[in-house]
Amino acid sequence: MGVEVVFASTLDMEGFLRHLTSKTRLIWVETPSNPLLRVTDVPTLCQRAHQNGTLVAVDSTFGTPYFQTPLDWGADIVMHSMTKYMGGHSDLLGGVLTVRDPALRAQLFEVQKVSGAVASPFDSWLTLRGLRTLAVRMRTHAHNAQKVAEYLEQHPKVSRVYYPGLPSHPQHELAKQLMTGFGGMVGFEIKGNVNEARAVLQSTKLFLLAASLGGVESIISYPVLMSHAAMTREERYARGIQDNFLRLSVGLEESEDLIADLANALATL
Ligand SMILES: *Cc1c(COP(=O)(O)O)cnc(C)c1O
Repeated sequence: MGVEVVFASTLDMEGFLRHLTSKTRLIWVETPSNPLLRVTDVPTLCQRAHQNGTLVAVDSTFGTPYFQTPLDWGADIVMHSMTKYMGGHSDLLGGVLTVRDPALRAQLFEVQKVSGAVASPFDSWLTLRGLRTLAVRMRTHAHNAQKVAEYLEQHPKVSRVYYPGLPSHPQHELAKQLMTGFGGMVGFEIKGNVNEARAVLQSTKLFLLAASLGGVESIISYPVLMSHAAMTREERYARGIQDNFLRLSVGLEESEDLIADLANALATL
């Protein structure tokens, strides 16, 4: 369709903005990002993009509308995967776009109608049911994730933890400005490599080895062999995803049980 795409990191905002040209129609950012939980300064990005006549879309799946509201930051389009926290029970597929501008909504609705991306009645019903508990679930996800992140950060077999709620997170101050909570996703690097990562994955009992996230049950995943397996090792390393990196979707179990499960798994190293 003649659409040209440029991938760039928003960590270096000025470098990112240098890619803007008179032809740039849309910027798409994910914050916090999967799987490294990087946080983008969307208010600044929107200001500069709008001066250029460029729309900004934010994938807010990790933050959820409970913890962050990118339309208030100036974003034109906000996307959530309903499959994740909004549904909350790993039993449906869906997505939502929210916009301010009625003309943009009409355009998007036209595309949806023509392409047939329409939610099934059952998935819609499950989504509505899940949304009723979004607030209580998100509070517990964030509470448990903070505990797990703090535990991992002091563990001798762990070299680095990625969670926006930790003061050690490079954008912790920005996250505090933008978010009212830091969500349920935690990344960490273990001391070791592929074999050690596999040993941890095979040893957890509460954290299930699975690809999705945002459900009531805790999930552990290994981006190297799962979500980011299609990338070459060089590409992955260039984006900061190393062979010793594991991702957790921290669920609603007791945080003490989750920590004990990770302690047992790390003890195998
Ligand atoms: C899972 C996910 C998606 C894709 O959503 P699906 O509902 O699985 O199609 C997009 N963005 C983020 C951040 C996700 O985690």
